[in-house]
Amino acid sequence: MKNRALVTGGAGFLGSHLCDRLLSEGYDVICMDNFFTGQKENIAHLIGNPYFELVRHDVTLPYFCEVDEIYNLACPASPVHYQFDPVQTTKTSVHGAINMLGLAKRTKARILQASTSEVYGDPEIHPQVESYWGRVNPVGIRSCYDEGKRCAETLFFDYYRQNQVDIKVVRIFNTYGPRMHPNDGRVVSNFIVQALRGEDLTIYGDGSQTRSFCYADDLIEGFRRMMQGPADFPGPVNIGNPGEFTMLELAEAVIRLTGSKAKIVHRPLPQDDPKQRRPDISLAEEKLGWKPTVDLEAGLQRTIEYFRSVVGNVSNGDARV
Ligand code: NAD
Ligand code: UDP
Repeated sequence: MKNRALVTGGAGFLGSHLCDRLLSEGYDVICMDNFFTGQKENIAHLIGNPYFELVRHDVTLPYFCEVDEIYNLACPASPVHYQFDPVQTTKTSVHGAINMLGLAKRTKARILQASTSEVYGDPEIHPQVESYWGRVNPVGIRSCYDEGKRCAETLFFDYYRQNQVDIKVVRIFNTYGPRMHPNDGRVVSNFIVQALRGEDLTIYGDGSQTRSFCYADDLIEGFRRMMQGPADFPGPVNIGNPGEFTMLELAEAVIRLTGSKAKIVHRPLPQDDPKQRRPDISLAEEKLGWKPTVDLEAGLQRTIEYFRSVVGNVSNGDARV
């Protein structure tokens, strides 16, 4: 009999790649999504596959099924979207974690949480190691996401200690690739869409802030290795690409690779925007034998190809306006 996996947020950017990967490995996949930021286009090619099941459901409400593995990805990831309804964002992380952990407890499924580098906040330690506790503003505009994800991690480790739930916590650093929503508002999709449309690339602040960008395929490989890894390693583990770039460097790379005549303009820096971020991935290398294989240039080229095919439907590259 096939192993059955539940992917919450399965119609989103990363969730849809994970559904593809699990189906290709012979899993029976249940994709749960409320379509807040997910797109039916991301999973349209899977409809009709007898081993793929799509369920419209909100993870903040209890959900019952029989499964072997749960991947909890449901949560808007872009600041524009998670700040749209911040109370719902916290509920999604916290109530969603409680519901999925309860399901894992009953079914004895192994459960993976899509956590985030945001748990480190605006970090004083560089690069970020898993043992660092972070510097997060509890009352700012990013807190609904950051603190929601931190509380979800707490719930995961309490279910692990109290109920022996088999947990896996992955801290994802900025990940990009095909199937990001064109109006998602995150920096890679914004810059590519703007460049392809010949619009100005909107750098927030002076562009000296840094991020490390991981290509989606590398991230999904990290998820799978973590899910199949040793039971005595619940994480948390950083999964990301240690290559670190300023937003100015990213904008210049996108302009060069698209061949766009677009210019760079500066916009105000959002509140609490972290100044720098780079993962220390030694733990992932040691425990999972994982490291990224796609560099920024190659990943951007693949992502640009994707956006060329969808950009005709894009109304606005900067989701803030
Ligand atoms: P995404 O917005 O494309 O996907 C999130 C999915 O969750 C969407 O399909 C959305 O409709 C769904 N969703 C949101 N709220 C829901 C709810 N209450 N019930 C059911 N479904 C709901 O974002 P993504 O980049 O694919 O992110 C997936 C996960 O990875 C998220 O949990 C995110 O926090 C985490 N993550 C992503 C990144 C990244 O750079 N992509 C970085 C850190 C963490
Ligand atoms: N950013 C930018 N222009 C944009 C969108 C984002 O300069 O059009 C900046 C943003 O201020 C941040 C970085 O790019 O410093 C990454 O932003 P994103 O929203 O992608 O992710 P996060 O801040 O959550 O890492």
